[in-house]
Amino acid sequence: MDYIKRCWAEIDLSAVEYNVTEYKKLLPAGTELMYVVKAACYGHDDSLIVPFLQEKLGAEYFAVADLDEAIRLRGMGISGDILILGYTLPEYAPLIAKHNVIQACTDLSYARELSKNAEGTVRVHGAVDTGMTRIGVHGTAEEQAAELSEIAATPNIALEGIFTHFSSADGTAQADDDYTNMQAERFFRVRDLLTAGGIELKHAHIKNSAGGAYGFGEGSTLARLGIIMYGLYPDPAKPLPFEPKPVMTWKAVVSQVKWIDAGTAVSYGRTFVSDRRMKLATITAGYADGYPRALSNKGEVIIGGKRCRICGRVCMDQFMCDVTDLPDIRSGDEAILMDAEMNADHLAALTGTIGYEITCGISPRVPRVLI
Ligand code: PLP
Repeated sequence: MDYIKRCWAEIDLSAVEYNVTEYKKLLPAGTELMYVVKAACYGHDDSLIVPFLQEKLGAEYFAVADLDEAIRLRGMGISGDILILGYTLPEYAPLIAKHNVIQACTDLSYARELSKNAEGTVRVHGAVDTGMTRIGVHGTAEEQAAELSEIAATPNIALEGIFTHFSSADGTAQADDDYTNMQAERFFRVRDLLTAGGIELKHAHIKNSAGGAYGFGEGSTLARLGIIMYGLYPDPAKPLPFEPKPVMTWKAVVSQVKWIDAGTAVSYGRTFVSDRRMKLATITAGYADGYPRALSNKGEVIIGGKRCRICGRVCMDQFMCDVTDLPDIRSGDEAILMDAEMNADHLAALTGTIGYEITCGISPRVPRVLI
C-alpha cells in the first residue's frame, strides 16, 4: 500500500496521451509543443506526468513558473528546454545557467541585473507585452524591438526567443477575437522588426491551449499547451475540435451513514436544516484538501453512480451529503468528488471560478496516484 485511501486523486496518463495527440493534430506544420507543467502540472503532480511526457510522448520543451520547479524537473531527468515563465531574482542567475534553464526576460533592466550576477551565459526568451499588461517589454512595436535588441546585445545574455501571452483567447477573461488577433499582429510585427535588424531567434511563441485550438497566432513556433493537456476547456462555453478527457478523478470515502429526523440542523452555522426524515452520509474530504467551501449546500458527490447533494457547510476535513436514495450505502464506500462528467469546470461554474483554480487548489496532502 503506497497511499492511504481517505481523500486521493487518480491520474490517468492515457487521457494525457489522448489530449496531447488530438491537440497536436490541430497545430499547423512548424509549430511544436511546449508542455506547460507549472504548479505541479496544474495540481495533477508533475512527478507522475512530466517523465511520461518526455519518455513516452517525446516532449522536448517544458514551461514552469519558477526556478524551483525547473530544478525539480532537472532532478526528474528532464533533458529538454525548460522555460521559466515567471520571475527569478537576479542573484540566482548562476543557478539558472547551471541548470541550463531559459528565463523569461521582462525588460532591459532585468536583463542587465541578470548579466551583472551571471557567472556564465543566461539563456532568455524576451517577454513582449502585447496587451496582457503583466510582464514584458512595453511601448510601441518599434520601442519593443529596440529594447529587445539591447537585451540581445547585453553581455552574458543569450536572447534565444521571444514570447507573449493572450489575455482574451479563452473564457478566463471574456473571449474577444479582435483583441486576440490584435495581440498576434503586434507580436509578429515585433518579431519581424527584430529579424530585419539581424537578430536571429530560435523561437517566437504566442499560442496557449486556446490559441492552438482556435487557430490564433498562426506562425508561432511553439504552442504552450496547458489546460487542454489536463482534459479541461480553456473556455467551457466554447466547443473544442475534440473533447478532451479529464486526467484526474478525485475521490474520498463515506465515513458514517445515519438517518436524521425532519428539523435536524447539519454542519457549522446550521445553514442546512432537514425538511423531512433523510439519510445522511459524512464524506472524508474538506477545504483543507482543496474542496471548495463555496460548494456548501451546492455541490454534489457521486456515490454508487448517483449524485448526492451536499448538506450544510463544507468543513476543513469532512462534509455531509444526502444519500436517502441509496439503500445499500455503507461506511467505507467511495465517493467521487470530481470525474470526467462532474469535472473541474463544473465545480468551477458552481463556485464562480475557473477549472484551473480548482485543480491547482487541491492540496498537497491529497495523494495523486496513477491508475
Ligand atoms: N503561457 C503562459 C505564459 C501562461 O501563463 C499559461 C498559463 O497560465 C500558459 C501558457 C498555458 O495556458 P493554458 O493552460 O490556457 O494552455
